[in-house]
Amino acid sequence: MTAKIIDGKQIAANIRAKVAEDVSKMNAKHGYLPGLATVLVGENPASATYVRMKQRACAEANIRSIGLTPPEDITQAELMEIVSKLNKDPEVNGILVQLPLPDHIDEEAILNAIDLQKDVDGFHPMNIGRLVMKGRDPLFIPCTPHGVIVLLEESGIQLSGAEAVVVGRSNIVGLPVAMLLQKANSTITICHSRTRDLAEHVRRADIVVAAIGRREMITGDMIKPGAAVVDVGINQKPDPSKKRGYRLVGDVEFESAKEVAGAITPVPGGVGPMTIAMLMKNTLRAADMALGA
Ligand code: NDP
Repeated sequence: MTAKIIDGKQIAANIRAKVAEDVSKMNAKHGYLPGLATVLVGENPASATYVRMKQRACAEANIRSIGLTPPEDITQAELMEIVSKLNKDPEVNGILVQLPLPDHIDEEAILNAIDLQKDVDGFHPMNIGRLVMKGRDPLFIPCTPHGVIVLLEESGIQLSGAEAVVVGRSNIVGLPVAMLLQKANSTITICHSRTRDLAEHVRRADIVVAAIGRREMITGDMIKPGAAVVDVGINQKPDPSKKRGYRLVGDVEFESAKEVAGAITPVPGGVGPMTIAMLMKNTLRAADMALGA
């Protein structure tokens, strides 16, 4: 059996096209374009690349982007002041503080300071709290976890009643993915670095989400035949045939897993593109809320 490859690039492109269409409608009706402020502290090259990609996606969807690039040695108080100004700015609908922040900055305090109505990353504790609680819904769902769920739904995977195993429990990926799967009525198991027999858990799963950050750790022999596998991991693997000397691989060993799984996301081209698509969607939603729609 060879798995259906879940085309995250295409699904993300469809979402971004729909956001662009809705932005045009908003502009026609209200003469208003959504605005996303990005705050990039310092010069971390990976963070700079992510922010550039987000700004490019904004431009494509006709979303205004406001880019702030304070220096690495900004103080906590100065960064708080930036967030506070953005909170008050009616031209700014969404605020994205690119993580990680420098060590001397209290990340939690900064994320707490973002206005809930502008928390398009969905990392405010109040949003996460609502995600975890039964019968409550967050204003914004964190982008990567939401992307994982949309990929499964768009691929026709039944979530309700499914056994889902999430490997990884970080605040930004593993935990919110597990909570979303639970909201969708899957029965969830969360595995982490202290899990005793990872393979045994993964083998029971109808749905496997790998968010570990360890190259090709989940192998085909750990996967139940026909399972849906979503690989969030992004890791470098040495590859002398590439100019840069490596290629990107996930947390799942794609070649062996695709022979067993029913559906699988590739890396790159799976979850990655969804993160930005969901951010565009959240920014549009924030603008809708600001307009009282
Ligand atoms: P973290 O390092 O924050 O979390 C990793 C999780 O994996 C932890 O919960 C950890 O357990 C668990 N883990 C580590 N080793 C093992 C092991 N041997 N067995 C089982 N579990 C283990 O990573 P993130 O959640 O931030 O990211 C995960 C991956 O997803 C990374 O590759 C990252 O690059 C990628 N990513 C991709 C995005 C995208 O847009 N596609 C967006 C964000 C991340 P414990 O809690 O016990 O330490």
